[in-house]
Amino acid sequence: MSKFKNTVSIIILIFGVFFTSVASANGCQPKNIIYLIGDGMGVAQITAARFEKGPLNFERFKILGLHMTSSNNNEVTDSAAAGTALATGHLTNNGVVGLSPDGEPVKNLMEYAREKGKATGIVVTATLAHATPAAFSSHVKSRYHYDDIALQQAKAGFDVMVGGGSSNLYPKSFPGSRRRDEVHVLDIMRNAMPVVFKFEHLEKVRGNRFSAIFSKGHMPLASERNFTLGQLVEKAIETLNKKKDGFVLMVEGSQIDLRGHANDSKGIISETLDFDTAIKAALDFAERDGNTLVVVTADHETSGLALDNKKTFKNGKVVAPHFASDDHTASMVPVFAYGPGAEIFGGVYKINELGKKVIDFVR
Ligand SMILES: [Zn+2]
Repeated sequence: MSKFKNTVSIIILIFGVFFTSVASANGCQPKNIIYLIGDGMGVAQITAARFEKGPLNFERFKILGLHMTSSNNNEVTDSAAAGTALATGHLTNNGVVGLSPDGEPVKNLMEYAREKGKATGIVVTATLAHATPAAFSSHVKSRYHYDDIALQQAKAGFDVMVGGGSSNLYPKSFPGSRRRDEVHVLDIMRNAMPVVFKFEHLEKVRGNRFSAIFSKGHMPLASERNFTLGQLVEKAIETLNKKKDGFVLMVEGSQIDLRGHANDSKGIISETLDFDTAIKAALDFAERDGNTLVVVTADHETSGLALDNKKTFKNGKVVAPHFASDDHTASMVPVFAYGPGAEIFGGVYKINELGKKVIDFVR
């Protein structure tokens, strides 16, 4: 090799090292992001599930953080304000979806991702129009404006949408519809992607987009389903991963919160274990892929679950815990991160700062 060629190679090498170090100083850019949210899942909910089953997929993470869940106008957040903070990086008032406290729309993670040419997906066990998925797909004054939320979601440009809530999709005149207008949202969805209504029909889906609506309202409880959230996440990942520019997927274990409101410890445990199957699906893929960031968190804690004395336990399992509330609490909730960029999620910060950290990877 000539001296000249040697010099050129060395210069290229030096520039290569320089640019690589600049990129990592700014936080690298993982190709894919999987953002998993356990609604109402505090540390005690995870602990109760741990007593039930032994080691969980949560324990595969090495980087952990905590976030303060308070909303703009309340120490104790609701899922709309919390979802908005996680999806947009902005604090807002309880009940508000995808808008600032002044009512201005704030861009969400999925909108940023689509601008970067990434595929986007949501997989939840509540109705798709429920607060958390709504925050990743719509901008409305009230979380209860389900008609508007469902319509905005259908038009948003998602590649994968999985959840419950068909009653929000049929026109008012159709039997079982909960809409107050004659808009046929399901037809709008069908124009964009195949829509299936049974888990068994998912295996026939071969393309790069699909929607699955499994129930009129929320999906059945984990204990009453013949499939796991993890299986839905596997199918979503397989489909979204066909996009060459990568994907962003939001997954919600929606009903940990609902079982918390009901002070149903068995339900809290089985919903948290179902959520753990989704974490397994995400981490297994991320480990194989090598360029996927996985972030797991909650929007808030529900029920003030306390594993406080001997009566709580029977044969090493949680059977009769103490509930301080049937509503949300202001306790900090955990963050678990894996993959390129995961180290920035260590520490203690506010809920909207978590949203900002995730969004920064697709800006
Ligand atoms: Zn709740």
